Amino acid sequence: MTGTPCKGGCRGTRQPHRYLCLTCWHALPAAARRALARSDAHAVARLRELHRQLEAGIPLTEIEVTP
Ligand SMILES: [Zn+2]
Repeated sequence: MTGTPCKGGCRGTRQPHRYLCLTCWHALPAAARRALARSDAHAVARLRELHRQLEAGIPLTEIEVTP
């Protein structure tokens, strides 16, 4: 078995350097996807927000990150 488990709870594997597999990524709200795809000074903070919500069991479709 290769690949890193996806954090989205789908039991799939994610791409290297990606936090979620493509299926879970596309389940995120468009606004959250846009924010997470941007890489700037706050990119790490946004990723941490995503992580915290996934750990808390919040559904992918309800994830919100700072724009
Ligand atoms: Zn997934």
